[in-house]
Amino acid sequence: MLGSTGSIGKSTLDVVRASGGRLSIYLLAARASGRALIEQARAFRPSWVVVADPAAAEGIRGSDLPAGTRLAEGDDALAELVRGPEIDRVVSAIVGAAGLKSTWAAVEAGKTVALANKETLVMAGPLVMKLAERSGATILPVDSEHSAIHQALASGARHEVARLVLTASGGPFRTTPASELATVTPEQALRHPTWSMGRKITIDSATMMNKALEIIEARWLFDIPSEKISVVVHPQSVVHSMVEFVDGSVVAQMSPPDMRLPIQYAIEHPHRRPGPARRFDWNSGFSLDFEPPDPERFPAIRLGHEAARRGGTAGAVLNAANEAAVQGFLDGELAFTEIAEVSGRLLEEHPFEAEPSLEDICGIDAWTREEVQRWSVS
Ligand code: NDP
Repeated sequence: MLGSTGSIGKSTLDVVRASGGRLSIYLLAARASGRALIEQARAFRPSWVVVADPAAAEGIRGSDLPAGTRLAEGDDALAELVRGPEIDRVVSAIVGAAGLKSTWAAVEAGKTVALANKETLVMAGPLVMKLAERSGATILPVDSEHSAIHQALASGARHEVARLVLTASGGPFRTTPASELATVTPEQALRHPTWSMGRKITIDSATMMNKALEIIEARWLFDIPSEKISVVVHPQSVVHSMVEFVDGSVVAQMSPPDMRLPIQYAIEHPHRRPGPARRFDWNSGFSLDFEPPDPERFPAIRLGHEAARRGGTAGAVLNAANEAAVQGFLDGELAFTEIAEVSGRLLEEHPFEAEPSLEDICGIDAWTREEVQRWSVS
């Protein structure tokens, strides 16, 4: 479980807990959440606990961990341990580009990877999918939208797919006038109407950059061109996404907004079992609304389409620019609207490489972060 102390990590542990001992945890990894990690280790008794931050590792004493649990430190150790033969499924839920290395290791080792860390596919989609083909790894999406598409695709053959339709909640600013967006605060942006998630993805939902990243993720995961991926705003977050087939039939997957369901789907695939996710109450009525996204207020969606169309280094640049700009916004250095602005500028101006290596991708990631830093101080 990579990123065990985060929002997806905790939901995954709920799924494991509800399995009544059928699922077990071999390894828990986080950045620095020492106390939370110790508590998880005591509850799940993994063989390994791995922390990325050396200072946090120093704060964990051997006696804090249960007998049989060992402590390791750093992302090299994590990438090595993830390859271990004891592991059959890896839940990849470290946030941001930091998740790439361990996810890459899991794919290279041929594991089944339940992928929440969409940034891995956004940055290096073609390389990761080729690697999976070579190693025999299976990548199953945890993102609720891609999980929905994965399920809906089972209704027809690949050549019968006309379009993927990603739903978006619209976030906290769905109806906010464009003129007010420049001055919204992190506190307002962190107030998501339907999902409770980590801070970075919550800001991504507010800018709708999350949908941009999901367009790119879908492009590589399902091998479908950018122009066949649409976005529709659906404020209730009940229909998680849809596949439109060539005959005009649209197949949707729906369930109450609860990440434990797509997580369980990815862990248990191809089986369905009872689990802890919330159910509909069919005795109380509800309605479903759909509306097109406003490209003027949410320019990020266009950037997602563009990066998915161009491929190469475009996804890595958009991802790094966004990640650094979100941090800048949370730190009070950038305005909300500058997140998409600086991301768009760097996407346009960066030294594009059509067939980058993993090394090139890491290089352009670092370059982009420096450029955002430069923008922030200017
Ligand atoms: P959180 O911020 O809640 O959690 C992030 C996790 O990653 C924490 O366990 C954190 O540890 C760990 N982490 C951060 N940096 C490192 C690092 N360098 N090395 C090791 N571990 C690290 O994020 P979410 O759970 O919300 O999101 C995780 C991923 O899942 C993201 O890629 C997101 O886009 C994706 N996702 C999330 C959804 C959601 O509902 N939350 C939905 C769909 C996708 P620590 O606590 O110590 O900082």
